[in-house]
Amino acid sequence: MNPELRALYQEMILDHGRRPRHFGVPEHYTHKMEAFNPLCGDRLTLYATLEDGNVKAVQFEGQGCAISMASASMMCEEVEGKACADARTLYEHFQQLVTGQRGAEDIGRLEILAGVRHFPSRVKCATLAWHSLDHMLRGDSTPVSTE
Ligand code: ZN
Repeated sequence: MNPELRALYQEMILDHGRRPRHFGVPEHYTHKMEAFNPLCGDRLTLYATLEDGNVKAVQFEGQGCAISMASASMMCEEVEGKACADARTLYEHFQQLVTGQRGAEDIGRLEILAGVRHFPSRVKCATLAWHSLDHMLRGDSTPVSTE
């Protein structure tokens, strides 16, 4: 990756980390999932309205490092309005991207987070929100822990 692109990506991560989108507890939701990454101390709760096989709305709140917050923020932007099946596919692709099992094709701007593959402990930060979403979509009500 060229250095200018890398710098732009870092800036976007910091921006999402500082000012996360889709942040806060919504008035209405159908699903709620708590997630904790004890290695880093990231903690978040994901709220979603799943209706007619679609992710109608999704929000989160919590506290954590810039990577975990930025990843949750970007995930919400990407999956809101998608069919649940497509959101799951995106989860699988993202998981494979950050663990180095696939490239950044078909992943859109989530490519920004691909750099965490070089830092295994950061992978848990980047995937915390995604694991929460996966639990929701599978109907698994067990809270997410990366341990
Ligand atoms: Zn973290």
